Amino acid sequence: MARILFVEDEEDLLSSLVAFFTREGFEVFHARGGEAAIQLAARMRPDIAVLDVMLHEGPEGPAGKDGFEVLRALRDRGFTGPVIFLTARTLEHDKLLAFDLGADDYITKPFSLLELRARVRAALKRAGGGKSVYRYGTVEVDLDNYVIRHGDELERLSNREQELLKYLIEHRGKVLQRDELLTSIWKYSAGVTTRTVDTHILNVRKKLRDDASEPAFIETLHGIGYKYIAQEF
Ligand code: CA
Repeated sequence: MARILFVEDEEDLLSSLVAFFTREGFEVFHARGGEAAIQLAARMRPDIAVLDVMLHEGPEGPAGKDGFEVLRALRDRGFTGPVIFLTARTLEHDKLLAFDLGADDYITKPFSLLELRARVRAALKRAGGGKSVYRYGTVEVDLDNYVIRHGDELERLSNREQELLKYLIEHRGKVLQRDELLTSIWKYSAGVTTRTVDTHILNVRKKLRDDASEPAFIETLHGIGYKYIAQEF
């Protein structure tokens, strides 16, 4: 489930965005002012942010940050997800500024919720499709190169381990049954049992240097399966 952050000072628009995207299956967070948005993003780590440019009507008033400043602050704090600006402005200069700051898309009010949904999905798809390096403090998972880096030290992943870890990362927060992992990663290879899944999990966990009794990456749900719990930071 994608986590989406909306920052919009107009209360009516914000509530319709929240209602619509919640119905569409997103996990929705929202703020009406820039500072509140920055704090919320730090806590909730959204996958994508949709930012209004002018935030003067919000509780932080005209002295508060605008959408561009919010984007700058989010990027400074390590937010790497896609950003879409929502705005009534149509000035070319603002559009260019938005893209300079690393925005992925720009949508001018009034817009339809369906159009915004399409743009959100497209931005998430582009972001997800291109991503192969994940950072967890000093641990870096580099799926393209089949390695996990711990500072200067390297752990190499086999093909299966890489596929398994990729699948876990892409389904972060979801309980994955051993059968599901078996079917998704090993397809229908002969002689493979859920025991194989357990062995590979064990190896990946060792390479992540994760502690099974107090996991930071892979949680074991006894009799059920596994859950990838690590969040990038
Ligand atoms: Ca506004």
